[in-house]
Amino acid sequence: MRGIVFTGTEIVCTDALTVRDPEPDEVLVRIEAAGVCASDLAVTNGKIAGLMLTPFVMGHEGAGVVEAVGAQVTTVAEGDHVVLSTIDNCGRCAVCAAGRPTLCTNSRLGRAMARRALAGEAPGPSDFPQPFRLHGEPVTAFANTGVFSERVVVRESQAIRIDPSVPFTSACLIGCGVVTGTGAVFNRARVYRGDTVAVVGIGGVGLNVIQAARIAGATRIVAVDTNPAKEAFARRFGATDFVDASAHDAPGVVDAVHRIVPGGVNFAFECVGAEATMQSALDMTGPGGSVVILGVAGLDATLTISPFKLYQDKAIMGCRYGSSRVADDIPRLVDLYLKGDLLLDELVSHQYPLEGLHDAFADLTAGLLARGVLVP
Ligand SMILES: [Zn+2]
Ligand SMILES: [Zn+2]
Repeated sequence: MRGIVFTGTEIVCTDALTVRDPEPDEVLVRIEAAGVCASDLAVTNGKIAGLMLTPFVMGHEGAGVVEAVGAQVTTVAEGDHVVLSTIDNCGRCAVCAAGRPTLCTNSRLGRAMARRALAGEAPGPSDFPQPFRLHGEPVTAFANTGVFSERVVVRESQAIRIDPSVPFTSACLIGCGVVTGTGAVFNRARVYRGDTVAVVGIGGVGLNVIQAARIAGATRIVAVDTNPAKEAFARRFGATDFVDASAHDAPGVVDAVHRIVPGGVNFAFECVGAEATMQSALDMTGPGGSVVILGVAGLDATLTISPFKLYQDKAIMGCRYGSSRVADDIPRLVDLYLKGDLLLDELVSHQYPLEGLHDAFADLTAGLLARGVLVP
């Protein structure tokens, strides 16, 4: 079958890929659409290069149709339309039972990332499933998924059944950008009606933070980006204000936000992954405010802050995958889409064939996309 493999040095589109049959707790899914996320680029040549074991099949935002299920699988059946999640949570450990499956202690990627964060250890083969073969050699799946291919094998907990009326090109985005951005608002920050919000970095995640803040009832939603062309996207999704960060230095950007929301915002969402924007996000918050960091920082990045800046009950929060309970959150997001509150079709600004990944990366880097989607 066809798929896109990162060898460690180059991105190769091949038709010599195979995927094994599902184990008893796994599902075989035919991919119908796959989102191109900034992490797909960052893991090959950017900030998180080295996070994954190579070679790996790229892609982690997918939707498709279940083609086969293992003997123990009960939540999906052949023919179901599914959104894929990167969280291979076990459903049985203490954190799963506490409703925090993104922190599952039996998740392979979660374990590897925790060790990397605590001890700086690089990943090993036991950290990653290798359901694919290329010319007989095992190939890893990026983020437990590997959806830049015609078929994937994932754990049952990663395949969430959805209403078949949702187009695959829209549904696929739920699996990373949408759960991450909306979950940060609904699950991690818990934005309430009347709160004020700043969103720094208006890419695929930032747009979803904006629309979740709108759905939650935030009264001011200030979008901040260095690309003034993002203003139209931001306002379409619910931003009430836009700050063109290219027109100011960093203190000027913070001042602009404070002029819109005197005293500072309740929540600032950092969706860039850079120390400077994390610093600015903290300065945008008012007393009692919180920063939620969604941007993926480089593996060696360091954040230096004055503890005095936290004195007025401020907080800085990490957030993985929208702190989502995917089995519950994804059907809720689909319901919000079907009701017309959550915009998904509008996110899909460009579509490409599988061979078009390089074009998609070029357009992503140039800031031309709301979101680009590969259709295998
Ligand atoms: Zn992603
Ligand atoms: Zn678990």
